[in-house]
Amino acid sequence: MSHWKETIARRLRALHLGSIRNQILAFAVLATLLPTLATTLVFYGRNRRSLNDEAVQELLGASSEAAREIDLWLNQRLDDMRAAAGSYVVAENLAKLRGREGAQALGRLRDYLSSARERLPDHEALLVIDPGGRVVAGSSGRVGGVRLPPDGLNALRTGGALVGEAYWDAALGRAAIVLAVPIRQVDGLFLGAFTAKLNLHTVADLLHRLSPDDPGDLYLMTDQGRLVLRSRVSSADLMRTKLPDKTAAVLFEREGQSVVYQRAGGQEVVGTLRRVPQLHWAAIAELPQAEAFRRAGQLRNVAALMILALLAGVGLIAYVLGLLIARPLGQLTSAAAKVTEGDLSADLPVGGAGEVGELTRAFNTLVLRLRERESQAELERLSITDALTGLYNRRHLMGTLVSEAQRSRRLRRPFSVLLADADHFKQYNDTHGHPAGDAALVKIADILRKTTRAVDCVARYGGEEFLVVLLETTVATAAVVGERIRARVAAEAFTGGRMTMSIGVAECPTHGDTPEELIASADAALYEAKGAGRDRVVAAGGKQEREKEKRRRKGEA
Ligand code: GH3
Ligand code: MG
Ligand code: MG
Repeated sequence: MSHWKETIARRLRALHLGSIRNQILAFAVLATLLPTLATTLVFYGRNRRSLNDEAVQELLGASSEAAREIDLWLNQRLDDMRAAAGSYVVAENLAKLRGREGAQALGRLRDYLSSARERLPDHEALLVIDPGGRVVAGSSGRVGGVRLPPDGLNALRTGGALVGEAYWDAALGRAAIVLAVPIRQVDGLFLGAFTAKLNLHTVADLLHRLSPDDPGDLYLMTDQGRLVLRSRVSSADLMRTKLPDKTAAVLFEREGQSVVYQRAGGQEVVGTLRRVPQLHWAAIAELPQAEAFRRAGQLRNVAALMILALLAGVGLIAYVLGLLIARPLGQLTSAAAKVTEGDLSADLPVGGAGEVGELTRAFNTLVLRLRERESQAELERLSITDALTGLYNRRHLMGTLVSEAQRSRRLRRPFSVLLADADHFKQYNDTHGHPAGDAALVKIADILRKTTRAVDCVARYGGEEFLVVLLETTVATAAVVGERIRARVAAEAFTGGRMTMSIGVAECPTHGDTPEELIASADAALYEAKGAGRDRVVAAGGKQEREKEKRRRKGEA
């Protein structure tokens, strides 16, 4: 593996991302999260700005509308008053006041004022003031407390109207304002001031109607920052309240723009201001800053929820995908481990046609081939071994002897055979039972294997007879090996006690150059050992001796 691959693999392991399943999961989450987050952030940023703009626009709309409507309201009131003041009834009777019909004129003037007041909705009282500043006639209603500013009359003499300052009228229990328009003769001579006290409840209603939704607020204040009316409150206390000079200054300075400042309670608000020039007032619309951002906050929550839902969905899909891939791989891994340990029983279910399916199919084929090869080898082994002892069987032995005899002839090298037969085995069987006899045979086979070399061929020749082919061995050495075998068997503890063996030894080609002749020689030697009292090793004599032995046996028969 190249250096960078190793580095990446190490990092992944450190992050617990070594497994395919976790890698898929992590990839899916990242692949979802990164683009979604990026898109959402851009989207959210834009919308947040536009939502904020929207809030500010709402405030600007409220303050502008309030300023415009109040201005309109004022102009209407002044128009009403000019119309009322312009009536000939006013001028005529005012002129007659100091004449003979003064009392009648005053009565007519009062009646006129009272009836005019009835027609004018916000006018609490109407007064006529003469150029000297004296009140000469008043309407019905609460007349008290109406005062013109000191130079008010002078202003009226030359100007069109006079707008007083808003004040708290205790008698009315409301905020009120004094308006005055000049009364002139037809020729333009200034006769006095047509003065009215207006309650501001229409203005208060107007503020209430235009105010932004709770917790927003809309209020009026004077040029000096003194509060006049508020959308929800109108009180003497309120009129004593002043906005901090700095705040008022900033608001006036940035008329028609949004300003962020602190309310008296410390709350951060966004506000916009619009002047009502005729009244020397300003309308201010306000919204707590938190509220202005609340809608943006809602948007953020929706976005976060969407991302979470998306993540959960994608995570689930990735998890299932991971399972689909990782599970067969895990099965493959543990099956491969079993095969390594020699267990060839594995047969994995092949699910799907993907790479993992291909791999599983290939693995199954591989295991099948191994099984076939193993069973073939087993068959071969069975065909040349003896079932009880695991030694070579007679058939294999004969094959070995044929090739060894040929090789010996060709190379002129000797080899020997031992023919070993258990003594009195019939009796052993009879005494201890056939199974005990079998166990004894297995034990003898074990001794034979251990006392010979790996190159030698040890075979079960018959029931309780064994034949050992000792390669490149003379009869003398073979006799030594035979003796070692005999001694080991004789020393071994069998179930039925002791057991002995008689062994005949013969060499090729000295005692026969074909398998049959060689075995016959060994058999003759064995017979001799039996005859001599058993539990011994006898080496075969020459050919002549064998002939003699044959004759002896014939004679016996
Ligand atoms: P000797 O000392 O003359 O060889 O006497 P022996 O009893 O060993 O000779 P014999 O050939 O008469 O008896 C061989 C016995 O071995 C006969 C048979 O019951 C027993 N035998 C042969 N094959 C098996 C076997 O596979 N298992 C068992 N338990 N006994 C076997
Ligand atoms: Mg026998
Ligand atoms: Mg025997």
